[in-house]
Amino acid sequence: MILVFLGAPGVGKGTQAKLLASKLSIPHISTGDMLRSEIASGSELGQTVKNVMDSGQLVSDELVIEVVKSRISVKDCDNGFILDGFPRTVEQAAALEILLGSVGPAGGAGVDRVLMFELPDRDLLARLSGRREAESRADDTDEVQAERLRVYNELTLPLVSYYEELGVLERIDAKGDVEEVFQKLSSVVC
Ligand code: AMP
Repeated sequence: MILVFLGAPGVGKGTQAKLLASKLSIPHISTGDMLRSEIASGSELGQTVKNVMDSGQLVSDELVIEVVKSRISVKDCDNGFILDGFPRTVEQAAALEILLGSVGPAGGAGVDRVLMFELPDRDLLARLSGRREAESRADDTDEVQAERLRVYNELTLPLVSYYEELGVLERIDAKGDVEEVFQKLSSVVC
């Protein structure tokens, strides 16, 4: 089972992805987490990534595609995985189709389901400020949050119609507490 989690920053998809990965016993692959590990390693690449991330922009498609390509070729992904935060652009989605070998006449999304978590903007902003207090993330100042939302609307939102056309999109109402949302998610996926 190959799943993609889509949704605005702060919608809670990371939390849901972790819970579902554990329930299904498949890896949770968060490109944000992998990029933060690269930063923590102190490498030169990490420093470049940090500058991009702290500005609210996306790192290059080439870089994240490479990161995902090597991660999903690890054996623990043989029975499926959850992609959280990837793809984030139409270019990344097209690259994912190639990575999954789903290009060609019998092709398609290559993923089984794309779960789109939806929440009104005012609830998103409230969750983001809660997360900022809890995690003190450097990429979560007011200005950076606004920029990340703008980038999301411009570059990532087009993926909704992309996957809708491929017939794999499911919408999840992300209102409610973690447990309630997980119930809704489980009823769609399991
Ligand atoms: P996240 O933890 O998913 O919110 O990601 C944090 C930051 O990492 C984003 O704002 C981007 O700068 C970067 N990032 C994570 N995933 C991607 C991706 N698929 N493409 C480009 N940049 C990404």
